[in-house]
Amino acid sequence: MTAEEVPDDHPRHGSLVTRHRIEEGVEKGITSKQGLVAQGRGEALDYLLGEETVPAAERAERTAVARTLLADHAVVSVNGNVAALCPQEAVSLAEAVGADIEVNIFHRTRERLEAIAEHLREHGADEADVALRGLEADARIPDLSSERAKVDRDGIYSADVVVVPLEDGDRAEALDAMGKDEIVVDLNPLSRSAQTATVPVVDNVVRAFPRMTEYAETLASASDDELREIVDSFDADEALHDAERRIREGFGDGDTR
Ligand code: ATP
Repeated sequence: MTAEEVPDDHPRHGSLVTRHRIEEGVEKGITSKQGLVAQGRGEALDYLLGEETVPAAERAERTAVARTLLADHAVVSVNGNVAALCPQEAVSLAEAVGADIEVNIFHRTRERLEAIAEHLREHGADEADVALRGLEADARIPDLSSERAKVDRDGIYSADVVVVPLEDGDRAEALDAMGKDEIVVDLNPLSRSAQTATVPVVDNVVRAFPRMTEYAETLASASDDELREIVDSFDADEALHDAERRIREGFGDGDTR
């Protein structure tokens, strides 16, 4: 069965489609086998969140977009899981907020980089007004030993805001040390990446990216002062705390589904 063949009325439709996309990603050489493990962890947490965007994540998504619209140079970092799960949504988001896309992967081979770039092109990166980066790898993130340290000088290296979905904690910390503002999309509010983020978005990337693109459209006419007000009034610790409480305690009295 492929992702497209999962019946619409299946009670676990969303989750099954996601699994199939990741499986297809592995088969196409886009996603690493390690990506399957990350997917499993994400699924478990999403289950506990009720597989919906919780209010704290909504606030974070709006703030993330405001911060990105204020950026001098924003980059959306795309790895093998994100490319498999939501390539078109990543392109749409980057276009809506005026960001570049940079392919950045842990298990780095030239073939995988090319396959991900090609997959993104097949999903609109060519037609969109978006620079596709990550193939130059002519700069390094300091103090990071993994292959993920390799970045484009005109991309992540020089960006002031980086959107990092499904990030590993080491790189999130290294980007933070470079003084970058990070928008982390991660279903685990306890991960080092989420804890390091300027704006932690505790949501499934397949829901977060389209919603962020919608916010980009509604905030497109906002002034810089209005955008700054949104960013300044956001409390990252509170957002993480709210998401963690939802995972641990489920839907309390004050919560609505
Ligand atoms: P850290 O080093 O920050 O503690 P980690 O070692 O858990 O993180 P990875 O193994 O790279 O990092 O895991 C990727 C993260 O992505 C996990 O926290 C997982 O919950 C999350 N994740 C997986 N799938 C999704 C998804 N579809 N949307 C959002 N987050 C996801």
